[in-house]
Amino acid sequence: MEIFSYMSKYGYEQLVFNYDVASGLKAIIAIHNTTLGPALGGCRIWPYESEDAAILDALRLSRGMTYKNAAAGLNIGGGKAVIIADPKKDKTEALFRSFGRFVESLGGRYITAEDVGTSVEDMDVVALETRHVCGVSSAISSGDPSPVTAYGVWHGMKACAHEVYGSDSLKGKTVAVQGLGHVGYHLCKHLVEEGARLYITDIDGEKVERVAKELGATAVSPEEIFDVTGDIFAPCALGAILNDQTIPRLKSKIVCGAANNQLQEDRHGEMLMQKGILYGPDYIVNAGGVINVADELQGYNRERALRKAAGIYQNMQRVIAISRRDRVGTHIAADRMAEERIRTIGNVKRTFLGERDR
Ligand code: NAD
Repeated sequence: MEIFSYMSKYGYEQLVFNYDVASGLKAIIAIHNTTLGPALGGCRIWPYESEDAAILDALRLSRGMTYKNAAAGLNIGGGKAVIIADPKKDKTEALFRSFGRFVESLGGRYITAEDVGTSVEDMDVVALETRHVCGVSSAISSGDPSPVTAYGVWHGMKACAHEVYGSDSLKGKTVAVQGLGHVGYHLCKHLVEEGARLYITDIDGEKVERVAKELGATAVSPEEIFDVTGDIFAPCALGAILNDQTIPRLKSKIVCGAANNQLQEDRHGEMLMQKGILYGPDYIVNAGGVINVADELQGYNRERALRKAAGIYQNMQRVIAISRRDRVGTHIAADRMAEERIRTIGNVKRTFLGERDR
């Protein structure tokens, strides 16, 4: 892999490796951009099949965090850590303390948090060695991000409804929700409270039964969810769910849900647009989770976190405006919104340094 050309192509700031013989830690931290503030992004533990795969994942995910954090209006940049290990058998106190020291060595340029393979308990151990960690289990912790993520998705969905139906009320609207896990469940509650009708699915029958019973939703099979005749499709389970097979089957006018990386390829964003479907870009509408954890940096305040997550409504409106202005899909408009904010705020910060970049 041509690491330096990749970093140069996508504008990375730093890629740092740490191998600690004492603990066996093999960790990589990628810092994509710190124009807006220190780089925040979770620490993923995965038994990568190669070192190249681990490096690429750290690079790709850190860049994704730059866009997500910038678009959410946060004063933080994008970074990510990966540890090459098996989360089922390699997690030890020494590993996380060693990782904490690695994070500390960067002096606050990177702030770590939970991700795939790591838990709140692991972050508690990391916190023994560094202050630059979020999502620990102290009294001031931000806790489970899922309810805030769901709250943000709901607001993003309302902004989409305003654009498509002329009103942001979801009363009487039919929403097909795919995935009834941590986020999907809370989203369903908001929707039903507002008077929406739900079609639901999950591969876990118990979850389906619970939501059907508790919220009076109609259950369909995981395969049928794409054929529901409704107003909104809310993917809250898997990535790559918007693809050549599924898009032709969709009957709703809006796609808006929590799942990460919903578009299998960028061209599927175009495909949705051609079909007249408004897509709420995943990282715009599911930013409630990072908004919640980033609030810890100011001393966690739940009300403030929810207020900021409600701002996803306005963010979605900005994305729609850019999509119209530039005649591009909302997935591209979202990237432009993030890039414009980084460029503008970067210039503001440089104003008195006499090195404006126009
Ligand atoms: P989760 O694991 O709690 O829930 C996912 C649900 O999807 C599970 O109930 C699972 O059984 C179901 N599922 C899996 N495959 C399915 C299929 N083929 N059809 C139907 N259902 C299926 O995860 P979560 O925390 O609720 O997150 C949901 C999505 O949102 C993920 O893509 C996640 O990356 C993303 N996300 C979550 C957060 C958060 O705060 N939790 C924040 C941002 C993004």
